[in-house]
Amino acid sequence: MTRGIGSWGWQTVPQRHMDGLKIRFTQAKVLGGGSTVNEQIYTRGHPLDYDEWRQAGCTGWSYEEVLPYFRKAEDNDTWDNRWHGKGGPLGVSRPAAALPICEACFAAAGQIGIPTNPDLTSETPEGVGYYQLTQRNVRRSSASKAYLAPVERQRPGLCVLTGAQVLRIVVENGRAVGVDLGPRGVLRAEREVILSSGAIGSPRLLQLSGIGPADHLRDLGIPVVLDQPGVGANLQDHLDLFVIAECTGSHTYDRYARPEWSAVAGLQYLLTRRGPVASSLFETGGFRWADPAARSPDIQFHLGLGSGIEAGVAAMPQGGVTLNSAFLARGRGGRCGWPAPIRSPRR
Ligand SMILES: Cc1cc2nc3c(=O)[nH]c(=O)nc-3n(C[C@H](O)[C@H](O)[C@H](O)COP(=O)(O)OP(=O)(O)OC[C@H]3O[C@@H](n4cnc5c(N)ncnc54)[C@H](O)[C@@H]3O)c2cc1C
Repeated sequence: MTRGIGSWGWQTVPQRHMDGLKIRFTQAKVLGGGSTVNEQIYTRGHPLDYDEWRQAGCTGWSYEEVLPYFRKAEDNDTWDNRWHGKGGPLGVSRPAAALPICEACFAAAGQIGIPTNPDLTSETPEGVGYYQLTQRNVRRSSASKAYLAPVERQRPGLCVLTGAQVLRIVVENGRAVGVDLGPRGVLRAEREVILSSGAIGSPRLLQLSGIGPADHLRDLGIPVVLDQPGVGANLQDHLDLFVIAECTGSHTYDRYARPEWSAVAGLQYLLTRRGPVASSLFETGGFRWADPAARSPDIQFHLGLGSGIEAGVAAMPQGGVTLNSAFLARGRGGRCGWPAPIRSPRR
């Protein structure tokens, strides 16, 4: 689901510090965006991330202020407490298809002093455990299924237009007044334009609309509407390293890559709602310090229940696991390169 028609097909430029490697950079091109193609792991930032945003001037974005919105969003099948809520639009569930090897992973972590944490999205995410998944009744609960589908047919004024690429935000007298869909015409806004095209799509669209670093835009022949040097800069992503290990037997979902086993998996899901189709393949993981001086855990783990899951990583003959370690990069000194908002966001 991370390539083909569901993705924009981006890749990075050759990475100077990685021997010129170009990395596939999946960004979803589908209703619901990344939530329709992602691993379904329900996760949040560390509480201190939000508090730093608040300190940097983002009014209303401290942890205590965003927590009620996280709770309100959730329909959690396990918890209803300070951190989690029930009855919201987004299904959040415990994994339905974990395997015994997940528990073996917790035991191994315990042996090197990493505790098991029953809730990796509470105030203290440190440790290893089961993630919760953005699923309801063992089906993906994407942003479009959770928020759009229930109201799409009934809400007057809501119109979902697919196959419509915005080429430019139309700005008149310093104000965004509509969007240009190229051959499909210009849509004019009565009140406001909300831009939510993703980590690559949003700054790209701003730049195509003349909002970005003036010199760069001039080099590309784009008329400058607003000089904003931060637009398109300071991307922070969680670079992953994968370690694969062969198992002593068929303890993971590797064998289901074969067509005959895929058919079994489909049947198993239809009949029991279990098995690899119900799995995100990354049901377990956790947070840990690589740098003991870091202000919060700077490594996130995901245990993949198979060995050939990630692009460019081989499958082991006997089947295996993938331990994925992601570096949780973050800005220093509480300042990010994002410019002051052009209009205050409304929540
Ligand atoms: C492979 C993968 C796995 C991931 N796994 C997880 C996970 O397990 N847990 C987790 O929490 N996060 C995960 N993420 C990250 C998560 O999915 C994203 O952080 C999230 O979807 C970002 O939401 P967004 O609304 O900012 O942007 P997006 O979800 O990217 O949505 C932007 C939307 O805008 C559309 N768009 C862009 N440009 C235009 C244009 N010019 N005109 C019209 N439409 C446009 C796109 O097609 C897309 O539908 C994963 C991401 C990927 C790619």
